[in-house]
Amino acid sequence: MKQTQWYVYLLRCSDGSLYTGVTTDLERRVREHNRGRASRYTAGRRPVRLVGAWGFADRASAQRAEARLRRLPRLEKERLAMAGDPFDGAPFCGPLPHRFCPRCGAPLEVALRPGADHPVQVCSACGRTHYRNAKPCVGVLATQHGRLLLVRRAIEPFRGYWDIPGGFLEEGEHPERGALREVREETGLKVRLTGLLGFYLDRYVYQGEQGITLNIYFLGEVVGGEERPADDAVALGWFTPDRLPRRIAFDHVREVLEDWRRRIEG
Ligand SMILES: [Zn+2]
Repeated sequence: MKQTQWYVYLLRCSDGSLYTGVTTDLERRVREHNRGRASRYTAGRRPVRLVGAWGFADRASAQRAEARLRRLPRLEKERLAMAGDPFDGAPFCGPLPHRFCPRCGAPLEVALRPGADHPVQVCSACGRTHYRNAKPCVGVLATQHGRLLLVRRAIEPFRGYWDIPGGFLEEGEHPERGALREVREETGLKVRLTGLLGFYLDRYVYQGEQGITLNIYFLGEVVGGEERPADDAVALGWFTPDRLPRRIAFDHVREVLEDWRRRIEG
């Protein structure tokens, strides 16, 4: 019989505070927190994201470690998660830490600068500060005759789920241009942008690596082209605001669709 792994995990809430918990399923637990179903504390501070996790063989040792982690000063918790260090004899199982300097390849160290309220990573050889930022993504809520264009994902993560056409921006590409390009690549359709819906943070897990995405959504209308799902999309679908699909990719897309519905109804 496969032994259950227990995790002590550390979340960062939207107000910057940290939350500690115990679970056997990290992905599911983070999702529950982000749906407001896991704790009253995190429900009012969404979205949360996983910054660290440590694996234990049984529930009792995980709970003891949780109590110890909870008592540590916030900066020490931050340092442990950023460095990916073991805790209480348990290995780090959280998002892959950044370990090496992208400029010179030497190991990164965690440093606390005087007056700073959070640690940063600094190269142990060349001294370069390693800044970590969200990756920008763009998407379009494009409509035709009152129906919204969605794409069914051909690839992981969330293969087979419905998504808003869009994707990662290229370096140096303006978000408006990138949005038009992504819609054309995935759907074959030409759209005209009519406005901005908003900005949404989410996490993106790919081959064990976790990144944060900054998702920019535009409003648009289809003005031409021919329907042809391609690239990340396996099918296209048209949905009225009251009949949106249930299987939605990515946590933030649900929120985007609710905001879109409110916008067009208001
Ligand atoms: Zn370096």
